[in-house]
Amino acid sequence: MNPLQNLHQHTTYCDGKNTPEQIVQAAIEKNFGAIGFSSHCYTPYSYPVCPDYCMSPEQTKEYQQEIRLLQQKYADRIEIFCGLEYDFASPLKPEGFDYMIGSIHGLKIDGVDVEFDGSAAKYQRIVDTYFDGDGMAFATTYFRQLATLPEYGNFQILGHFDMVTKHRDTVMLFDTQDKAYRNAAIEAAEALAGKIPYFEVNTGAIARGYRTTPYPDPFVVKELKRLGFGAVITSDCHDVRYIDCGFETAAQLLRECGYTEKYILTKEGFVAVPL
Ligand SMILES: [Zn+2]
Ligand SMILES: [Zn+2]
Repeated sequence: MNPLQNLHQHTTYCDGKNTPEQIVQAAIEKNFGAIGFSSHCYTPYSYPVCPDYCMSPEQTKEYQQEIRLLQQKYADRIEIFCGLEYDFASPLKPEGFDYMIGSIHGLKIDGVDVEFDGSAAKYQRIVDTYFDGDGMAFATTYFRQLATLPEYGNFQILGHFDMVTKHRDTVMLFDTQDKAYRNAAIEAAEALAGKIPYFEVNTGAIARGYRTTPYPDPFVVKELKRLGFGAVITSDCHDVRYIDCGFETAAQLLRECGYTEKYILTKEGFVAVPL
């Protein structure tokens, strides 16, 4: 199988721009060996504020059915996997997926799920409203909560490990060189080691013009390597024109951090291939 693939793929079932079939056709044109769909799971805070962000419980079933039909229709041309990008704000117990990405896009604050993902202004508003303007407290809280992900399900891929740095190129909410930041990130990685086998080098924020480098930071990638995580390269794609955006940059980052191989998903599970 051609090792070119993307396992972090959004569709019109959530906040992606393209239908699953358009994405399958684009992946075939790019000579991908496989495509894995990972729509956003249902998170109540998105309803009714932004119903297009994630799938409702009903849409989740339709999504699974459609991906399974596409698997059959294109079986002789490309491998198709039905995955999910799970967030711990979801009350649903996800079932029937080929793989799951575990990510968080919000924080649990005094028992309430508060979404922080969005524009730079939104990040700033969350820091000001819930952390008295202390960006470092926001970042360290994020990492502490990220470390709890395995309590919510069985995930294969750890999603955008340091997403709190999304707007680092435009707004300085905290210093990623600071010891407090680095220790919080490393502690989360240590807590997750052995529980989620793979992490993604995620180029999605490059395609969307938020930043010029993938997640995670090189110092994080080196720690993940030390802790035995396998690496997967994804484009967190919301627009099929960017389905392979930054893949070479991602491979370069991995090589610089000591990786010689990445993992791809096959019918037999994840297998290592040379970078
Ligand atoms: Zn995400
Ligand atoms: Zn995503």
